[in-house]
Amino acid sequence: MSAVLEPDTPTVLVYRGSEIARYGFGDPHPFGTDRHDVFQKELETEDLGAAIAYASPRRATVDELMLFHTADYIDHVSRKSQSGRGYLDEGDTPAFPGVFDAASDVVGTTLAAVDAIMAGEVRRAFVPIAGLHHAARERAAGFCVFNDCGVAAEYLRRNYGLKRIAYVDIDAHHGDGMFYGFEDDPDLIFADIHEDGRHLYPGTGAESETGTGRARGTKLNLSLPPGADDAEFRRAWRRVEAYLDAARPEFILFQCGADSLEGDPITHLCLTEQAHADAAATLCRLADKHCEGRIVGTGGGGYNRRNLARAWTRVVRSFAEAG
Ligand SMILES: [Zn+2]
Repeated sequence: MSAVLEPDTPTVLVYRGSEIARYGFGDPHPFGTDRHDVFQKELETEDLGAAIAYASPRRATVDELMLFHTADYIDHVSRKSQSGRGYLDEGDTPAFPGVFDAASDVVGTTLAAVDAIMAGEVRRAFVPIAGLHHAARERAAGFCVFNDCGVAAEYLRRNYGLKRIAYVDIDAHHGDGMFYGFEDDPDLIFADIHEDGRHLYPGTGAESETGTGRARGTKLNLSLPPGADDAEFRRAWRRVEAYLDAARPEFILFQCGADSLEGDPITHLCLTEQAHADAAATLCRLADKHCEGRIVGTGGGGYNRRNLARAWTRVVRSFAEAG
């Protein structure tokens, strides 16, 4: 499926547009609709030149949503989107008018990134407002309505016949929607470094959680204590690297939530943006070795605006520098 890239061909596609920018919950919710523009402005100052190109969002169809989500849950979001009142879950994720379309645009854009890579247009892509990792197959959770990475993993299987998809998550929160959504699936390669669930939402992701049934022992959850810094992250990351190298994925989905950086208003980790840059560079090397370079980065969480702008920009820079 991959094409040989000309030297002057952009190596990273970055998705931008009001369709994904509007996914957010308004002031004073930490997941505001300003996050997209804060990142895009920072990226513009980085001068990555011809290494990056921009692409526009697209909307996921209901059939695509149903690759991961239940029909009942999709109907629930559709109804709440019309009234725009109340919560989609127990009180973290408010409904708003048009939330169905906004959440479908996030999913569709991650799928567009997958399509561009599988068509050989580029080898890396980044979607800032995406990586909504708490959404379960049958419910919203933790600011996440539809799980774009969950849909993307199923989409890669159905549309492209890939089997071994890796999901790698360095957001401060455990990616519970992805973990439990594929808990018994040994071919969904899962590695997640997060703040210890005894101190942070959603409370899951203990190291003893390695999968169930046929997948028992195949997934990697690594917890960091509150206050953990880059050195502690690097120790955990070496295990992720060895795990992924042994697992030989065919495609990598990277959730690089910036709420693991010091100064986030709702978490307690103390990483710097260098952790995100280094993780992205390593993943590109692994992608080159095992899966023709194919990696999609998604922004995930991050509520300190400077942190998300810097961390995501460094991820894009690492993608670009990896060629
Ligand atoms: Zn988070």
